[in-house]
Amino acid sequence: LKVCLSCGTRFEANGWRCPSCGHEPEQRGTHFYFAPELAEASTGYDSACFGQIAQLEAGNFWFRARNRLIVWALQRYFRGARNLLEIGCGTGYVLSGIASAAPGLRLSGSEVDRVGLEYAASRVPRAHLMQMDARRLPFAAEFDVIGAFDVLEHIDDDAAVLREMFSALVPGGGILVTVPQHPALWSEYDVRAHHVRRYRKDELRDKVTAAGFHVARTSSFVSLLLPLLFGSRLRQKAGTADYDPLAELRLPRWLNAALETVLDVERWLIRGGVSLPAGGSLLLVACKPQ
Ligand SMILES: [Zn+2]
Repeated sequence: LKVCLSCGTRFEANGWRCPSCGHEPEQRGTHFYFAPELAEASTGYDSACFGQIAQLEAGNFWFRARNRLIVWALQRYFRGARNLLEIGCGTGYVLSGIASAAPGLRLSGSEVDRVGLEYAASRVPRAHLMQMDARRLPFAAEFDVIGAFDVLEHIDDDAAVLREMFSALVPGGGILVTVPQHPALWSEYDVRAHHVRRYRKDELRDKVTAAGFHVARTSSFVSLLLPLLFGSRLRQKAGTADYDPLAELRLPRWLNAALETVLDVERWLIRGGVSLPAGGSLLLVACKPQ
């Protein structure tokens, strides 16, 4: 179902015009803008960064390994899913990974930032993309799966996002979430990335449960690399004016390949049922009760 963000009416229709109050979201090109006031001035991300990120992520071990983990979790926990919405899809790298792994899945993506949305549109032409505020989703009981991959940490009111995700899911549907973990790892990297927080596992679990979900699985990842990550972030804490937030993405090819192998090992462990207790990131799978 669609939800009118102006009057709250739930309706089923091909278009977005509300049958009750006549409200219609703004359309720019092929995309609907549900929160146009946020499209240019998003504080969660630097628009200028999208271009660089789009170039770097396809080759970077962390983005590549995270994609494989997400695709595994999707196939393991939501095998029967017919459609998926990704909130905060950025440049569309995750959606493109899901698109090739699950050709039968109907894909939607939302992004608050206009520039990100355009990158995503060129990267995943078959996805249905919309500009919106994750705290106000114009859907109810619509999706089988909703993903938010390193998105919640950008948003003050993460509880509102989780409630909206809950409401936009069909009963029996579920969420896939990744977030940066361990407040002790907070560094200049998080500041520059416009993070509001890094999560403790219990904090994420509690917020997800409070929104109505049953948590099916959590696991840390980037666990075996944790000492390395901690060292790297500590060095940054020393503080330099010329700090480059994308430096972690630019690695020598041999190192990038080695790190990717380590994350492959972690994924095998997670797939085998091991829930890694600590790690730079946290994966959570949760379901909306039938
Ligand atoms: Zn309305």
